[in-house]
Amino acid sequence: MGTLISIRDLRKSYGTFAVLHGIDLDIAEGEVVCVIGPSGSGKSTLIRCINHLEGFSAESAITVDGIKVQPGAALARVRAEVGMVFQSFNLFPHMTVLRNVMLAPIRVRNAAPAEAEAKARDLLARVGIAEQAEKYPGQLSGGQQQRVAIARALAMEPKVLLFDEPTSALDPEMVGEVLDVMKKLAGTGVTMVVVTHEMGFARQVADRVIFMDGGRIVESGTPADIFDTPRHERTRSFLRAVL
Ligand code: ADP
Ligand code: MG
Repeated sequence: MGTLISIRDLRKSYGTFAVLHGIDLDIAEGEVVCVIGPSGSGKSTLIRCINHLEGFSAESAITVDGIKVQPGAALARVRAEVGMVFQSFNLFPHMTVLRNVMLAPIRVRNAAPAEAEAKARDLLARVGIAEQAEKYPGQLSGGQQQRVAIARALAMEPKVLLFDEPTSALDPEMVGEVLDVMKKLAGTGVTMVVVTHEMGFARQVADRVIFMDGGRIVESGTPADIFDTPRHERTRSFLRAVL
């Protein structure tokens, strides 16, 4: 499988405060990568740079599917290939679930409405909420809303899905239903980068786990490498605190 995302010497500062100190990372097509690490270590910033929701230093380089990530005309192509799922769902509250999922394909890809609707219904069935299609987001549970957000991201047929702590805002009883949808997705060959505190999910689903601290990748490896035989003391102390 080829490289889908290439990140070279990624540096990012907020003003004079350096948040990422030179990240090198390649993600292969079909790979599922989980990013773990303490709060403030730069996990969100890293994945937000991939579709340029955050700008980054001029000497850094990111490519997605061979397209250079930089401000300008090509950015729309990058964003069409990169789906994003946030902690806080970010659904449009005044649109039905169905409209939420149909919107981007119609607006961005010029999909025919009937085709977009059929596909949206199919995706809602895939995430287990076909019967909620005519409701508004506010009428759904958090777990259901997050499943809508996943369906909405999938509607654009992205090459990669980025998840930023998708279960952190959910009541505990709803975490499982969202993780189940993500596990199923991972099994279909979609490339996924998942920032998560769900260590069980990372161990079970990730091809590779990346541990970040202080704006750097401290170590990365298979789930067994990271969870059973971590090489760095910082990784060990983080895992002791969260497991
Ligand atoms: P994580 O997702 O691992 O918790 P973040 O990427 O959100 O970490 O943040 C990394 C660091 O950058 C933190 O110290 C955070 O306070 C800082 N930071 C994040 N966003 C901003 C911002 N918009 N302005 C200034 N500092 C920020
Ligand atoms: Mg974060």
